[in-house]
Amino acid sequence: MRVLVAGAGIGGLCLAQGLVRAGVDVRVFEREPGADSRYQGFRIGLDGPGLAALRACLPPRLHRLLEAVTGPLAGERRVVDQQLNELRKLGPAADGTAADRHVLRQLLLAGLGDRVEFGRAVTGYDATGYQERAGGRVEARLSDGGSAVGDLLVGADGVGSAVRRQLLPGAEVVDLPGNALLGRTPLTERLAALVPGAGTLVRGSGLSLLIGRMEFRRPPRLAAAELAPDVELPHTESYLRWVAMLPEPLGPGPEAWARVRDRLLDLLDGWHPDLVELVRRSDTGNSSPLTIRHARPVPHWGTGPVTLLGDAVHAMPPSAGQGANTAFRDAAQLCRSLTAVHCGEAELAAAVEEYELQMLDRGFAAVADGLGRLSEFTPAR
Ligand SMILES: Cc1cc2nc3c(=O)[nH]c(=O)nc-3n(C[C@H](O)[C@H](O)[C@H](O)COP(=O)(O)OP(=O)(O)OC[C@H]3O[C@@H](n4cnc5c(N)ncnc54)[C@H](O)[C@@H]3O)c2cc1C
Repeated sequence: MRVLVAGAGIGGLCLAQGLVRAGVDVRVFEREPGADSRYQGFRIGLDGPGLAALRACLPPRLHRLLEAVTGPLAGERRVVDQQLNELRKLGPAADGTAADRHVLRQLLLAGLGDRVEFGRAVTGYDATGYQERAGGRVEARLSDGGSAVGDLLVGADGVGSAVRRQLLPGAEVVDLPGNALLGRTPLTERLAALVPGAGTLVRGSGLSLLIGRMEFRRPPRLAAAELAPDVELPHTESYLRWVAMLPEPLGPGPEAWARVRDRLLDLLDGWHPDLVELVRRSDTGNSSPLTIRHARPVPHWGTGPVTLLGDAVHAMPPSAGQGANTAFRDAAQLCRSLTAVHCGEAELAAAVEEYELQMLDRGFAAVADGLGRLSEFTPAR
């Protein structure tokens, strides 16, 4: 059996790791020219099931490295005003793990070698010879004019998924109104005090600021050199990740971060100096405007040689912190199903269908949860 994966994001790579562990032949096609070609570094919070799914796919030799390059995510989540006076507590977060998406992605590339083909986007597929029970082959078309043939194509190509557009042309992805800015600021002792627990939500006039801490247990590059010398991790310092949510866009179109930041600083006039400092010191290369999108539920599409995983099917707002967790759970479940097929214990079509039914339930429940919690973070217009 050969599995083709569109997208070397965290979900697609997690699946590829699990399949390689199980001895399944897998090829991953990634649109970006290289692993470092785009800004990817924001903090994601992993919960127990998400982390367990990731660990189930990663080879055990990388588990200690994963632990070393993640950070704690625990304690009270509090809501404060723009002078940092506490307004209320949201209750302690269930113990979780803070991970940096860029570091995680580099870790997930470990050992995959030329199974991951950068600069080759999947543009569509052809599955005309496929018969529901007898199976068949799927041919993925690639942006460089090439193609690849396999037994299953997995669209793990994110919210703009080309695979989903062909498989489910009626599926809708909605842009949420308002404007979000994603910032990253190096962690200093002074700024660390802004997030004493799992997270801080600042509710200011016309603007909310969500702040989270990414504090690596060990510097990623040094930890890799010691624990798994064949793995190359980036040199990355600990930081605070923040998201500013505004009811209106700050200006037309994408702009240089320095200009966006200056406009945001104008809005923070009179706010607590530590909050002003947080924004003023933001890292130009790792901060950007952010479009928040979510997918509308889709029905099961019927059995075939093409399936979907992660944001490609159930993109969700980050308000419930579930996108990556759900993508990892999809990956681990699909990996188990395909491993059973590989071992002769299940039929491909039935195994994929079972995965899809559970994935759709899980994914769209998380989308609904995220939408339900969005108002907690959205400032009044
Ligand atoms: C600010 C922010 C905070 C978040 N916080 C959390 C959190 O705390 N907890 C959590 O669980 N989730 C969080 N998320 C969500 C999480 O980051 C995503 O849900 C997760 O990255 C989805 O993984 P994925 O692999 O499905 O898609 P992606 O990570 O988007 O990967 C898709 C990959 O496919 C590639 N690609 C695209 N098109 C093609 C194509 N045609 N052919 C080949 N390759 C293609 C892309 O280049 C990319 O590498 C957050 C998101 C944001 C923006």
